[in-house]
Amino acid sequence: MKAPGAEADVLIVGQGIAGTLLAWECERAGIPFRLAAGAEGAPAMVSRVAAGIINPVTGQRLVKSWHIESALPVARAAYREIESAWGVKVWREMRVRRIFKNERERRTGLEKTARGELAPYVVAAEMDGLWIEGAARVDLPVLLAAAQEHWTRAGLWRSETVDLVAETARYDLVVDCRGLAGALDPAWVTVPWEFSKGETLELAVANLPADVIPNSGHWLLPVAQGAAWCGATHTPGVVDATPTADARKTLEGSAAQLLGGQLYTVTGHTAGVRVNLPDRHPVAGRHPVVARLGLLNGLGAKGALLAPMLARQWINHLAEGVPFDTAIDVARFTTTHRGSP
Ligand SMILES: Cc1cc2nc3c(=O)[nH]c(=O)nc-3n(C[C@H](O)[C@H](O)[C@H](O)COP(=O)(O)OP(=O)(O)OC[C@H]3O[C@@H](n4cnc5c(N)ncnc54)[C@H](O)[C@@H]3O)c2cc1C
Repeated sequence: MKAPGAEADVLIVGQGIAGTLLAWECERAGIPFRLAAGAEGAPAMVSRVAAGIINPVTGQRLVKSWHIESALPVARAAYREIESAWGVKVWREMRVRRIFKNERERRTGLEKTARGELAPYVVAAEMDGLWIEGAARVDLPVLLAAAQEHWTRAGLWRSETVDLVAETARYDLVVDCRGLAGALDPAWVTVPWEFSKGETLELAVANLPADVIPNSGHWLLPVAQGAAWCGATHTPGVVDATPTADARKTLEGSAAQLLGGQLYTVTGHTAGVRVNLPDRHPVAGRHPVVARLGLLNGLGAKGALLAPMLARQWINHLAEGVPFDTAIDVARFTTTHRGSP
């Protein structure tokens, strides 16, 4: 039921990967919604610079991505449905060639593979690295542009910067999908946000296999014929999105190494800020005081994998009253806060 004067039940604020997938799930579930994407001058959207890689086994300790078994099938199904609904190509199955950086990583990789800990994504290890199956690339620039076009045509998309709390008087629910801007808003002051700046280089380079992502700490992602991205740096605590000469130098070194001396040219350089939580889980749920205000944020370095699963949790909550998974519920922070003196 709509709040008085509202044009829809739900207002989704922000149209990065979080807002886009939430709008998609609302549409599928028949929940009336509107999308307010930031107007000119709104904080930059990190989803535009993200590589969109989904990698089932990550980190120096080579661990399976959190909830990969449940999140990957949900993500694959959502992006494929979007492809057929909107006539765009956004999902590409890939393999990651994880090259061991040092002896410790090699030992970890060999031992975990031998124990079957990384199955079914890694089934065999070689002396210099692993093949990780079940990876993918989501073409976020294509997805975001198609979403904007689709919902603009439906009259549901607006380029405007809104005051969320004011909008809660007009909608049953306003969901904050503003990424960095949401994390910096005093409305969510009880959430212990963390930030990590990341930078990526765009390269012109010939003859790369289209379905392989070499990774040795930094990755090399073939994005089109003759084009690849190399990334990404991690600088904790930094919230500006300006490309730096230091990161460019580091990434040029990694690109040269991953390409084994093959020539390339740098054609672009982008930067953005990841929003994380200390437990490395994303965050969703209702505001502890203003129940008409909701949140979907903290996607960290895994927005492409996690956004479909989190959007699905919101729909289950709205349609059937299912509580959020306690590992992602914003209440995991607000409960502690309320209980403290
Ligand atoms: C260099 C780099 C590489 C990355 N690579 C990957 C990768 O390979 N795979 C992966 O899964 N993830 C990757 N990530 C992480 C990924 O970018 C994030 O997880 C994801 O994009 C976060 O999406 P979001 O929708 O939460 O935020 P955003 O994409 O930032 O979207 C927020 C939106 O809110 C809007 N907004 C802000 N204020 C307002 C307002 N007041 N009113 C209306 N709208 C507003 C903004 O304009 C924007 O549209 C990478 C990140 C970086 C920095």
